[in-house]
Amino acid sequence: MRILIAGLFHETHTFLDGLTPLSDFQVRRGNELWVSKGDASPLGGVLELADEFGWQMLPAADYRAQPSATVADEVVEQFWSDLSAAADKADYDAVYLVLHGAMVSQTILDVEGEVLRRLRKITPVPIFGVFDLHANFSPQMARLADCLVGYRENPHTDAREAGLVAARLLHRCLTTGRRPHMQLQQPGILWPPTGTGTAADPMLSLESMAREFEEADKSLWAMNIVAGFSFADTPDTGVSFVACTTGDATPQLQELEERARALAPLGQITDPTADEVLDQLQPLPSGLTVLVEPADNIGGGAPGDGTGLLRALIHHGVRNAAICLNDPQSVSQLEAGERTIRLGGKGSRLDPGPLELEVELVALNDGRFELEDKNSHLASMCGDVFDMGRCAVVKHGGLTILITSVKTPPFDLGQWHSQGISVEKLSVVAVKAAVAHRRAYDKIAAHMFWVDTPGPCSSNLKTLPYKHLQRVR
Ligand SMILES: [Zn+2]
Repeated sequence: MRILIAGLFHETHTFLDGLTPLSDFQVRRGNELWVSKGDASPLGGVLELADEFGWQMLPAADYRAQPSATVADEVVEQFWSDLSAAADKADYDAVYLVLHGAMVSQTILDVEGEVLRRLRKITPVPIFGVFDLHANFSPQMARLADCLVGYRENPHTDAREAGLVAARLLHRCLTTGRRPHMQLQQPGILWPPTGTGTAADPMLSLESMAREFEEADKSLWAMNIVAGFSFADTPDTGVSFVACTTGDATPQLQELEERARALAPLGQITDPTADEVLDQLQPLPSGLTVLVEPADNIGGGAPGDGTGLLRALIHHGVRNAAICLNDPQSVSQLEAGERTIRLGGKGSRLDPGPLELEVELVALNDGRFELEDKNSHLASMCGDVFDMGRCAVVKHGGLTILITSVKTPPFDLGQWHSQGISVEKLSVVAVKAAVAHRRAYDKIAAHMFWVDTPGPCSSNLKTLPYKHLQRVR
């Protein structure tokens, strides 16, 4: 059997400003895909398993990038031109795709569905594949592919295994001649990413129901519980259930929908506002209080210049506190001798905008620092040294503000120490992160609170200006 294989992987956050260009993608073509064989990725797993089935794999193209803003159309067109050229050149018995499922480009809200639509025009063979649990699964995807299998764990510890499950099902299809179809159920439920972990409900119960259904009904090849990606604004955004079956999975899909409705509030996690949290922190407790601002999560693609928590700290007159914002313009203004700056609020349309602030200059520095924790997430991104660009340290009342010229995920305390700030001696420090800061801050924090502010990565979905949502009730 000859299998055409390709990958297209991007989780698109459409509420981030700007575009993700082709140059942000890692692009591999043809035989370059073999470097993945045997590695921890779904693609690597399938390339390895192919030997066992005696498949001849025909690698077409693999495009992937980190989660970021809406993708340039050029990426989709370039991918399609690579995939269609590879399909033209070869005879093949099936197609295997490694997808995310929540990719959005400038003009295409359902990129995976569009790729399947074009593929279906040129081939009638079975199309199988794997996708991410955070997909926004579309009717087009369900209609045009034969069998797509999603990850079952979040965090995604089973991506490779899900790829193998899909490959084994393709082997079943090719050896038995039986061909499944997909049935999609979209209950109109939206959960923020923080509400989609599979160790807890709602996902925990839905996952176990799906495995029971698979066990009990042999015509059901796979039942996918798809959490959706609420930061991609499309008509299909949200939770869905996708059956791959040679029979009719309507009863099971309906049962899942009913259970999901009953459990839905458990997935709708929201953090209290910064003002609510600061109101409760009077007087400030002893030790360091870490205030976490996930709406401006730098590691999730946010600009790191949000003014929500900054405004609240100033409004509440919090003393012995520090916050870091990325704002090269303000650094330049300070270098030019100005002491009234328009700080932050330039990177996201969801922010109220720059905050005009009179400040006292403490220092202007080079922002290179050596990582204190060489095994951190930041080290995996940059090695031993991170460069925050030119930095300014300023004071406003009891608040110390570190202003950087390169946005810096708060994953290493060297960020503060290199600028002469003893972060562990503060009463309050603000960090723009969701979860990944904890390796650095858990060991110095006496208290840690998550606060909601305006920004693109807020768990409070009501703050996001959706335009395309259809089904959410
Ligand atoms: Zn995911």
